[in-house]
Amino acid sequence: MRAIVVTPMVANSLRIKELDMPEVSKGHLLLNVQKVGICGTDRDIISGFYGAPPKGSDFLVLGHESLSRVTDIGKGVRGFKKGDLVVPTVRRKCPENCLNCRNEESDMCLTGHYKEHGIKGLHGFASDFAISDADFVVKLPESLKDVGVLLEPLTIVEKGEVQTYLLQQSRMKWAPKRALVLGAGPVGLLATAILRLRGLDVSTVATRSAESLKARLVQQTGAEYIDAKEKPLKSMEDQYDLVFEITGSPSVALEAQHLIGTNGVTCYLGIYKMEQNMEDAGKLFTDLVLGNRVHFGSVNANKTYFQRGVEDLLKIRKKWNGFLESIITRRAKIEDLENAYSPESEEEIKTIIEIRSVG
Ligand code: BGC
Repeated sequence: MRAIVVTPMVANSLRIKELDMPEVSKGHLLLNVQKVGICGTDRDIISGFYGAPPKGSDFLVLGHESLSRVTDIGKGVRGFKKGDLVVPTVRRKCPENCLNCRNEESDMCLTGHYKEHGIKGLHGFASDFAISDADFVVKLPESLKDVGVLLEPLTIVEKGEVQTYLLQQSRMKWAPKRALVLGAGPVGLLATAILRLRGLDVSTVATRSAESLKARLVQQTGAEYIDAKEKPLKSMEDQYDLVFEITGSPSVALEAQHLIGTNGVTCYLGIYKMEQNMEDAGKLFTDLVLGNRVHFGSVNANKTYFQRGVEDLLKIRKKWNGFLESIITRRAKIEDLENAYSPESEEEIKTIIEIRSVG
C-alpha cells in the first residue's frame, strides 16, 4: 500500500513509500483511509523542524487530520462495524501512564512522553490503510463524509472553548458578549463559527481583503471581518471578553493585548516563532494583574472534544450552508504530493488529500 512519509528532521524528504498492509490486532481497528488534511504542523515536519519516527523506524507516515472507514475489527472491540465513518484522535498515552494519561486526558500529559499519530513516535494516517486502537476512535454520521476531515482541527477550538469557560466560570460570574479571533485560517474560521454558535458577537481579524473568501466565510456566520491592513490592531479601542489567538505571530499577540477587557481571557492556540523580543513585559504583566486577566495555552484534544466536535460540525452545517465545504479549497490526489503541501494561491484555506476518491 502507498504511504506519504518523511525522514523526520531531514528537510524535504517527503516521498511516497510502498508499505506492507498492516494487520489488525486485539483492541484495534483497521482503517481504510479516505482523506487526510494538511496543516502547519505537517509543513514544519516536512521542513525538518519537528517530528519523530516510531521506535525502530527511520521514517514517519504523515497525517494526523484524517477521515476513514472501518475495514476490519480486532478481537474485543465493541461498537464498530465495517464501513463505519470514523476519525481517530491524534495523541496516545505516555509510557509512564501519568495522572492525566490514565484519566483519558492524554492531551494534558504531564511527562511530555506522549505519542502523536503522524507527528511524534507513531505513524500517521496518510496511507491507504492504517491502524488505531479502537478506544481512541470516534464515529461520524454519513452526512459528514465530505467534511468530516475537518473534525481534528475543530477539536483544537473545542478544547480552547471548553477550557476558556471552565476557567472563567470557576473564578467569577461570567457572561461574555464579545469575542475576538486573531487569524482566519481553518482553525480561525472554525473558532469564529463555534463562538457564533454560542451566541457571541465575534470579530475576526486577518490580513486578506474584505472581498476575500476568508472574509466572506467570516461574514457568513454573522461575525465581523476586520482586515488588519486597513484597520491595524493598534488603532482599535474595543474591549473583548475573550480572545482566541491563532496567528502564531508574537507581534500580533502583543499588539492585541490592549483589546483584552477587564476580567478577560486569552486562549493561545498558535505555535510562536522565537525570534522576536517582548517590547514591554512590564506593561503586559501590570495589565494582567490590574485587569484580572487570564492568559492560557491549549494544545491537542482528547476524545471528548472529538465527540463534541461531531455535534458541532452538524450544527455548523445546518446553520451555514456550504461554510464547511468552502474551507476545503483544494482536494489533491496522493500523486500530487509535492504541490499538495505548498499553498497554491492567496485564497487557499485547507488542502486535503483524497487518499481514496470514492467513498
Ligand atoms: C495537532 C495537535 C498536536 C499539535 C502538536 C497540531 O497540529 O493538531 O493534535 O498536539 O500539532 O504536535
